[in-house]
Amino acid sequence: MIQDIAPEIFHNEYENTEPSSDSIVFSFCNRKILCKIEEGRGVICPRFSDLGLKKEDVIFLFKIDDRSFFLKKSDIENDGDIDGSGGFTYEDIRVLRNAYPKDLCFAGMTAYHLFVWYRDNRFCGRCAAKTEYYDKERAMICPSCKNIIYPKICPAVIVGVTCKDRILMTRYAGRAYKGNALIAGFCEIGETAEDTVRREVMEEVGLKVKNIRYFASQPWGFDSNLLLGFFCEAEDSEIKMDENELSQALFIKRSDIGSEAKNLSLTATMIMHFKEHPEDFPM
Ligand SMILES: [Zn+2]
Repeated sequence: MIQDIAPEIFHNEYENTEPSSDSIVFSFCNRKILCKIEEGRGVICPRFSDLGLKKEDVIFLFKIDDRSFFLKKSDIENDGDIDGSGGFTYEDIRVLRNAYPKDLCFAGMTAYHLFVWYRDNRFCGRCAAKTEYYDKERAMICPSCKNIIYPKICPAVIVGVTCKDRILMTRYAGRAYKGNALIAGFCEIGETAEDTVRREVMEEVGLKVKNIRYFASQPWGFDSNLLLGFFCEAEDSEIKMDENELSQALFIKRSDIGSEAKNLSLTATMIMHFKEHPEDFPM
């Protein structure tokens, strides 16, 4: 999956530190990222020295091994500089799915998560004063009421609903992503993740489920999520699809599942796990 960048190691500890000339600087505008797409080399993001910035123009994000990643601060105030600079242009953040090396995809996605959080917390939600960067940990602090605001992470579930040798595959209605999906949805206030599984499956396809088992999780910074993957079994197989959410919902036989690229998403990893490990799904 995207976060699996071994042997590289992701260090998310906050450091009040300055960039070096070869630190990567991420810059975002809406859902676009400043980059170059080079034939044969893939996506390239600018280094600090490429952008003619001063050290106070960027804020530290995280490290991968000993490489530091920063965010251009003016994006937080202005939502980006759409003109680009230094031969770099703003491209849809989905280009990161094809970024090479793979850790650039994970870094860019995680940087985008932090960008959205910084941008949306420029003012204190408690007293409405302008917030400041906190220098002791990754947080924003309100100088007026001392409210400390930490990054927001939204838990959501991905659900593989199985029925003997079949798994429920869906397609979303009215979204850019047209590939195979599993049932998915945000955890609501007061719910356990297992409650969310039961509620989302009932809402989207009208099925009761049993034997809910946790599978794996995935940080998904494109939408500020922590995705929690579960498998469960349908108590019957009569689907009542929510046509506002989905354009298709079908139980697909294990032998009819094609090949999904499991190097990126939890969804694809779960579909391929069902296909390749029938021993984990006794009938
Ligand atoms: Zn305040």
